Amino acid sequence: MQLGDPVDRIKGVGPRMQEKLARLGIDTVGGLLMHFPRDYRSYGRPLAASDKSMDDDSPCAYLIRLTRPASIISRGRMQIVTTSVPAGGSNLQIIWYNMPYLKKRLTPGRNLILYGKIIHKGSRRILEHPDIFEENAYAQISDSLQPVYSLTQGITQNFMKKAAASILADLDLSSDHIPEDIRKRYQLAEYNFALRQIHFPENAAALAQARSRLAFDEFFLFILSVRLLSRDTAKAANHFKLREDVNADSFIASLPYKLTSAQMRAFRETDADMRSDHVMNRLIQGDVGSGKTIVAALALMEAALSGYQCCLMAPTDVLARQHFEKFSSIFSQMDIRVLLLTGAMKASEKREAYKKIQSHEADIIIGTHALFQEKVVYDRLGLIVTDEQHRFGVRQRQLLSAKSSGGQPHVLVMSATPIPRTLAIVLYSDLDISIIDEKPQGRIPIKNCLVDTSYRQAAYRLMEKEVKAGHQVYIICPLISESDGIEAENVEDYSSMLRKKLDGRIRVGLLHGRMKADEKDRVMKDFSEKKIDVLVSTTVIEVGVDVPSATVMMIENCERFGLAQLHQLRGRVGRGSCQSYCIFMYGHGGKNVSRRLQIMVGTNDGFEIAAQDMKLRGPGDLFGVKQSGELAFHIADIFRDSAELMNAGQAASELLANDPDLSLPEHALLRDRVKEEGSLIL
Ligand code: ADP
Ligand code: MG
Repeated sequence: MQLGDPVDRIKGVGPRMQEKLARLGIDTVGGLLMHFPRDYRSYGRPLAASDKSMDDDSPCAYLIRLTRPASIISRGRMQIVTTSVPAGGSNLQIIWYNMPYLKKRLTPGRNLILYGKIIHKGSRRILEHPDIFEENAYAQISDSLQPVYSLTQGITQNFMKKAAASILADLDLSSDHIPEDIRKRYQLAEYNFALRQIHFPENAAALAQARSRLAFDEFFLFILSVRLLSRDTAKAANHFKLREDVNADSFIASLPYKLTSAQMRAFRETDADMRSDHVMNRLIQGDVGSGKTIVAALALMEAALSGYQCCLMAPTDVLARQHFEKFSSIFSQMDIRVLLLTGAMKASEKREAYKKIQSHEADIIIGTHALFQEKVVYDRLGLIVTDEQHRFGVRQRQLLSAKSSGGQPHVLVMSATPIPRTLAIVLYSDLDISIIDEKPQGRIPIKNCLVDTSYRQAAYRLMEKEVKAGHQVYIICPLISESDGIEAENVEDYSSMLRKKLDGRIRVGLLHGRMKADEKDRVMKDFSEKKIDVLVSTTVIEVGVDVPSATVMMIENCERFGLAQLHQLRGRVGRGSCQSYCIFMYGHGGKNVSRRLQIMVGTNDGFEIAAQDMKLRGPGDLFGVKQSGELAFHIADIFRDSAELMNAGQAASELLANDPDLSLPEHALLRDRVKEEGSLIL
């Protein structure tokens, strides 16, 4: 067996399983091995059903003696198996979703160990969908760390465990792509060891070592591939100098607001770059709402007026369209032609766009990934701006650059990830950095509150009041539709419930990622034109969306989101001159969860949130909700693994100083991995 082999080489994987694994994005043996556990369970000594500490809100093992037969109740499409046992003076109800065959196994008089979480509904206590163990089977795993994988329908934890174990038994992983001297210097575990321990840790210390090595690995390969990819472009000559008579002064003077001095600084830096002898490669970093878009607009305007084509790439259709609308209106007076190009457009519309691009009937092209498809041929492409930059942007920038005839175009990248400068330099090693560390004047700080669901009625009254005052509201739910076994609000049910709860004149809309692109566009347009007052949405509106008249953001089941994500979501309000509110609505979760969420209430500053979150987690917290969605690494997290990131940056510099193109024979294995990584950064 080899890492690149198709998954059906694994024992017990047939065509049907292959299909299911594909849904998890797994199609090779290596892919399955890299599908690391998302968490670990430590199976401690089971508690007795009468135990006082049974009300703990984290999952536990309970020793249960069944006293009565189980019954099956149907609720809609769902079949629920339920039984109850006496526990500490009252009854504990136990339920399983959609596992009717369990009924036979749950005979009175049996002892079972059930592992799960107890939830409270009014005065009832419910052990919800626990795992079931026979006593002797439990004894075998107790006191160990068992992997928990993310799954899809038809794949069980047990299957994943067996598959990972069989790969590890079969593969020869003894050769390590990280050279020994680097491993020694940075005290890294061997690859072989790390892969074994990440799936089946012997103990917490071994797991921590494994994780540290794999995080280092991921950063190291990423940094090396970025540096190799951008080696030739870093100091390329500037073939797209701004025309001397072009400047943005009168446009800046005509803006309805005064640019902050941080915005001015960032603008001057991009302006100077584009007039210099070398091509621009710059990152603009600034917290949500700091006003990055206008800085990009200024650069685009100057390049377009100098006769170059430019493009602006956004990560989502929704955001691309929003930028398109905004830029079209900003530039309508100026003889700058703006064009939209997204994958969601009709084939005929796309063809039309390609024609206009090639003949330079468009100056600024705004879109998504579609911007760098083969069919697009640019004419003197001089500037590429990517908004809400994420890790996969590097390769995209390379590809777009390759599309330019007549030299390397300028590149401007915008990011809201609040990482300290020292880390940003390592991570974006191919870019110069401008930081916008100031909010526009006159912003009133957002008022935050963290509340439980009993506060909903009050929240709805606040919404009604705000809507009456001409403002708008976002409500975020984690799910699109009802889902078995996941206790969280969903957009579909929530929006119909809300239509009944709110004043009938209030217009409620909904938005989620499974809707067609043109439907999404229509909803966003209606919302920004105030034809929708309350928008119930999933996190699709997380990045970039700018509707300044929205003043209320309510996040249902906020315990399900990472702080960085919550911060992004909250950034959708507080963009205008009116008081805004953010309501963090809390479904369930323990003390740790609420301590984490309190950070959100305490500050509106992205850097501060990241720093406090790190402090709270401490070094012991290896997993848990990821900080940053924007820089999505597989296992590594730029905040939690910042030490590994710094080390990987240093190790990469040392290595490339000795072997600039990784051509030494002892680096052959590493070179292959870096190449793979380079082609993955797409
Ligand atoms: P982000 O940095 O999150 O991308 P945006 O560029 O979308 O932020 O700007 C947020 C809002 O602030 C927009 O509505 C924009 O028009 C406005 N804005 C930008 N700069 C200023 C400024 N200097 N003064 C007042 N409002 C501004
Ligand atoms: Mg933005």
